[in-house]
Amino acid sequence: MPIATKTIEGFAAQKEKSSLQPYKYEAHPLGNFDIEVEITHCGICHSDLHMINNDWKISKYPLLPGHEIIGNITQKGEKVTELNIGQRVGIGWQSNSCRKCEWCHQGEENLCLTQESTCVGRPGGFAKSLIVDHHFAFSIPENLKSENAAPLLCGGATVFSPLLQHGVDGTFRIGVFGIGGLGHLALQFAKAFGCEVFAFSSSMAKEKEAKELGATHYISTSDPSHLAKLKNSIDLILYTSSHIADFSQLMGLLRPKGKLCLLGVPENGKVNLPIVDFIDGRKTVCGSNIASPPVIQKMLEFAARHGIVAKTELFPMSEVNTALDKLKANQIHYRAVLCN
Ligand code: NAP
Ligand code: ZN
Ligand code: ZN
Repeated sequence: MPIATKTIEGFAAQKEKSSLQPYKYEAHPLGNFDIEVEITHCGICHSDLHMINNDWKISKYPLLPGHEIIGNITQKGEKVTELNIGQRVGIGWQSNSCRKCEWCHQGEENLCLTQESTCVGRPGGFAKSLIVDHHFAFSIPENLKSENAAPLLCGGATVFSPLLQHGVDGTFRIGVFGIGGLGHLALQFAKAFGCEVFAFSSSMAKEKEAKELGATHYISTSDPSHLAKLKNSIDLILYTSSHIADFSQLMGLLRPKGKLCLLGVPENGKVNLPIVDFIDGRKTVCGSNIASPPVIQKMLEFAARHGIVAKTELFPMSEVNTALDKLKANQIHYRAVLCN
């Protein structure tokens, strides 16, 4: 019997830095462990824009972005037992891994060397539907609205994971550098952990909202004198900007044993720091990628319990280019979400 395939409609970039155009592709047949998800919402992460622009030199075209997906299961493979048809699920940046290596066995699939991403070399969520391995689909708590929860699947996971990795508790002073999609979620999570929260933004424009979201202090990085006053103040900085920063200045903000955790991946982003910045005060620079599947599920439950959701601007999927233009201009009110 021929295996049924399905034509999926979405929006793709045909070449580097181009606008997205309607695009159709033949999805692979549903495997035993796969689910088919009818997409209702998809957030636009800055990584989608980096991918469209080929900022990281890994993009292949046509490129159908989108990895902050929420939708309903319309079909499932024979071996899918934990999820049901009709159930609402979310899918983030990761959509596969080897399931055999030490990291996969420990439930840290995001560290697997052969992990696959939802929209790298395969079509993502700016589309009507998606076929994905159910291991990378997460149940969405009932009290989270899809339009505000979609950005948790990548943005929320990415800022929540380092709080667990670095043992953050209510005694911590957390800095969030860049108050965009990731940053505005980081403010909320850090507040829910009970931390003293420092928001660093390139202008004063976001002060009122940043404080409402959880910032104890708001600092505009446009005036270096503001940063100078905060030397030796912060335990952990989450760097969430899509733009390059003066990392030596950020190291100066850290208290002894403080950590600078790099999450943003600007084009040509490089960290060039004097060795003494690490030695004096035993400071650390580290990075973090998304979150493991168990941490993503835990993050969703934590967000539901603490009322943490993204502030979103909604766009019909057909207006994806308008949303991308606003994102490029740093004018999105925290997170653009496309709806079908
Ligand atoms: P976003 O919503 O566009 O926010 C980025 C923020 O960076 C902006 O709100 C702005 O903050 C600052 N910014 C942007 N352009 C700037 C400029 N020209 N000058 C100064 N500041 C500028 O992006 P996002 O979706 O939060 O993603 C942020 C970064 O994280 C991206 O590089 C993305 O690829 C990366 N990311 C990494 C992971 C991971 O696993 N590590 C996961 C998801 C995303 P202010 O207005 O407050 O200055
Ligand atoms: Zn993302
Ligand atoms: Zn693996």
